[in-house]
Amino acid sequence: MFDIFSPIQVKNVYFTNRIVMAPMVRFGLPSENGVMGEKLLQDYLVRADKGIGLMISQTLGVSTERETAGGAGAYSDQHIGYLSKIAKACHTNGTRFFAQLGLPGFGFYDDRSDDVNKLTKQDLIKIRDWFIRGAEICLKAGLDGIELHGAHTFFLNMMASSYSNKREDAYGGDLTGRLTLAREITEAIKSFSGDDFILSYRMGWGGDLDIDVQTAQALEHMGIDMLHVSTGIPKDRKLQLPAGFEYNDVVYTGCHVNKHVSIPVIAVNGIQTLSRGNELIENGGCDFVAYGKPFFADSDFIKHSAKNSDYKPCFECRECKWFTDGEKCPAQIIAKAHAN
Ligand code: SF4
Repeated sequence: MFDIFSPIQVKNVYFTNRIVMAPMVRFGLPSENGVMGEKLLQDYLVRADKGIGLMISQTLGVSTERETAGGAGAYSDQHIGYLSKIAKACHTNGTRFFAQLGLPGFGFYDDRSDDVNKLTKQDLIKIRDWFIRGAEICLKAGLDGIELHGAHTFFLNMMASSYSNKREDAYGGDLTGRLTLAREITEAIKSFSGDDFILSYRMGWGGDLDIDVQTAQALEHMGIDMLHVSTGIPKDRKLQLPAGFEYNDVVYTGCHVNKHVSIPVIAVNGIQTLSRGNELIENGGCDFVAYGKPFFADSDFIKHSAKNSDYKPCFECRECKWFTDGEKCPAQIIAKAHAN
């Protein structure tokens, strides 16, 4: 039986455990010309020696035309330096590092909901090439992989969803059509990346579990190496969870998808303690467990959990301070006071 500290290998990439630091934007920690500012960089580097199996960056933009929140990017060789610094620090400590690549600015729940339908084929080819270039930059920087952001209504999510993609050309229509762009990106990246570089996909849920399974299987079939299952379109999907399943709809979706694919699946969302994540792994629910706010609240989340696996550093504030200024996170303030 595996537990959360059991190693796992995906292609040629060895992970010392199944604990993932989820991609999280650090608002208020800026970047310049797509290069992480010193404070933001430090926020990653201080977590590089903390025993994390896989660290995934916040969404990095693939173009100057559409910047991500936080402004960090992977669209120029100038970005190799900061990415390689994080990768090297992670590797020294046995942690793997992926960059999450995404394209923002296509809000499904705002007045730009129709944007994916207005793009020409030439526009899509340009966007496809941005993602491919982003992966090349990450490979050159020595990262262990990338994660294509296809959840949270980001661009690839909108392309994949029947709610948002109403295109009538080869990039729309049925699921196969709606995933055409993802397939073209995947095939191009796999043509140069080899077995030491993982191509993960953060998949946003769809209207029901059947479409989730079909999407996951299509992604596996096109060559995606790992899946990370999160929310998508529609936003507030509610499932009737089986009695005794003590996690939320997002985690359930990840575990359900995991039963229908053979590639590893990362489950995420509201899993606040190591013991809760461990239970998922021990029961075969998923292969990796991603934590967000626990790592915001305490960069030593794993070390402190080793003494007490129910350790829960995040206070679950009504509004997480990291959306405005992480230095106001109460858990951080208390930790600093104890350290002084
Ligand atoms: S601000 Fe509150 S919710 Fe956010 S990480 Fe800190 S303790 Fe958790």
